[in-house]
Amino acid sequence: MTVLPARITRAQCADLAVPGGVLPVAPALAPIFLDLATRYHETVEPLQWPGCWGWADRNIGKTTKPSKHWAGQAIDLCAPQHPQGVPALRTFSRAEITAIGAILARYDGIIEWGGTWDLPDTDGMHYQLRDGVTLEQVLAVASRFGGQPPAPVPAPAPPAPAGPGWTGPDLTGAGPSLRGQAAGQPQGPQSNGPRVARLQEFLRSEYSLYAKHLVLDGWYGPQTAGVLDEFARRSGIPESDGLNIGPKLAAALHRAGLERGLSAARAGVLGHVTRGARR
Ligand SMILES: [Zn+2]
Repeated sequence: MTVLPARITRAQCADLAVPGGVLPVAPALAPIFLDLATRYHETVEPLQWPGCWGWADRNIGKTTKPSKHWAGQAIDLCAPQHPQGVPALRTFSRAEITAIGAILARYDGIIEWGGTWDLPDTDGMHYQLRDGVTLEQVLAVASRFGGQPPAPVPAPAPPAPAGPGWTGPDLTGAGPSLRGQAAGQPQGPQSNGPRVARLQEFLRSEYSLYAKHLVLDGWYGPQTAGVLDEFARRSGIPESDGLNIGPKLAAALHRAGLERGLSAARAGVLGHVTRGARR
């Protein structure tokens, strides 16, 4: 549950290109406000410029409470036709109000229209994120409109391998599977450790054809998973995606010599298919 900031700077806004102009808004809300303004233009009335606004560093009226415009969480559309304080029914037709309702129904109720507020607050130009809506809720709705979510905070570097690391399965295939970390997914508790580093070292030394660039960092991330996927494919385990060391893949690694102290020559004699594939 993440609360969106009550104030952002102009530089933190996303600039929405809407018919006739640009609306700066909070990046998380950009796909929603783009959909809203575009549909308003198409189904209610053409957007009027000047007269449409997004981000603005001001408080609500004469209060000291920041306006949702300051948070990039509000837009005004066709302000001259729909002044604050004038009931919406005086400036919109019933058909236009119905069309606005149809647009807002697309956003699961997280966007409210100032035209529904009682006098003297009523504000027919104004659309804003409802109080108490979390970032997660915004992103869930925004993702339906094909928008790019805001640039994610860069993931922290993987921690140095520590602790026991990988604890299973054993290499006869018994025990729980080990899951790796897919690209873009959070790391799992077991996805790093010295045992994974030994696995990487093994793969890199034995399968240089496709593993020579593997980084020996003890991190069962997407790169290691990619090598294991190739190893599995060449080992006749096509159902493996490399992101999960289950019984079959563990057994194949064992046959190939992992954690058996075998020389490369001895591993070759054992007939692991990848060795044949390298010739
Ligand atoms: Zn407004």
